Amino acid sequence: MAYSLNQKIKDLEPYEPISGTYKIRLDANESPFSYTDEIKEKIAEAVKTIDYNRYPDPMAGELCGAFAEFYEIDKNLVTAANGSDELISIIETAFLMKGEKLLFIAPDFSMYKFYSSICEAECVQVNKNAELEITADEIIKAIKDSGAKCVIFSNPCNPTGQGLGREDVRKILSSVDALVVDDEAYMDFWNQSMIGETEKYDNLIVLRTASKAFGSAALRLGFAVANEKITKALKAVKSPYNVNSVSQKIGAIVYSEKDYFRKSLESIVYNRDLLYNGLRNCGCMCDDFKVYATVTNFVFIKTSMAFDIWKYLLSKSVAVRYMGEYLRISAGTDRETSVVVAEIESYLKKRE
Ligand code: PMP
Repeated sequence: MAYSLNQKIKDLEPYEPISGTYKIRLDANESPFSYTDEIKEKIAEAVKTIDYNRYPDPMAGELCGAFAEFYEIDKNLVTAANGSDELISIIETAFLMKGEKLLFIAPDFSMYKFYSSICEAECVQVNKNAELEITADEIIKAIKDSGAKCVIFSNPCNPTGQGLGREDVRKILSSVDALVVDDEAYMDFWNQSMIGETEKYDNLIVLRTASKAFGSAALRLGFAVANEKITKALKAVKSPYNVNSVSQKIGAIVYSEKDYFRKSLESIVYNRDLLYNGLRNCGCMCDDFKVYATVTNFVFIKTSMAFDIWKYLLSKSVAVRYMGEYLRISAGTDRETSVVVAEIESYLKKRE
């Protein structure tokens, strides 16, 4: 007798972020800012009230209420999850039947493709152009030509840093029957959200996360916003107690600290601009170093030296994300930004 793993999982490797410890971590698009002492104290008080012997609220009512109030939307249209990663997995598994097509617009967040293989959907890929852009019309055509039942894209996009404007997303939504999953993990850094328009469409799910602008990656909190019918289906298919009581409690505090998180967001955007401008100056030193425009909290760069620069930065205890002929660098603190820019400059100067 011998049990063997099935075809779709037998060669999978567990997800491993970069190993080792580095003084500066700019590889995961996290916020460089943790909570203030005042917020930490509020949290310490609040978690004292948790009944640890009881299961969490399955619908995370208080948390969804605080989230909805922050974005000024109807709390009944919000589904909370254990990170937006969980929602991507739930959506692809439940809203696609085996063999149905999912449209993936490359390059984009790799987990979309990964989960489609687990749920045995067929992933159809369409590529962005050399500038890493794609139009709404091209997306609509790709959905129609492929017969995709679902399209999922990050907007603005991880890793390119660029986004589709609201008008483009509206055009896609009203031109296709497919489910459109608009993953707005980085939309707090831009102003083209569809979060307030989910009731107008029967094929829209907007995803959000607390992991980026809200500096709460440790909590694992993600949210889906959709019309009533889709929300009911999402709540029915998620596992009942998917968000633990500690994250629910802390998340509710985080989303009610409006002033702090708005200020923190401004600082991240300010530092992102410092990073972008610093990297653009590096680009002036060398033709082989293209810096893409960004509306996110990171900057994407194309260079044939990507691997060597990545290794060099690691040797200086600075971690950024290496992706083939690209590097993706998250906005850090002022100091982290000046260190990473100075190290890249010094690398480029050394090779002159
Ligand atoms: N969507 C995008 C586009 C992301 O970049 C990420 C995280 N890197 C996620 C979703 C997952 O975020 P979470 O921490 O909420 O699972």
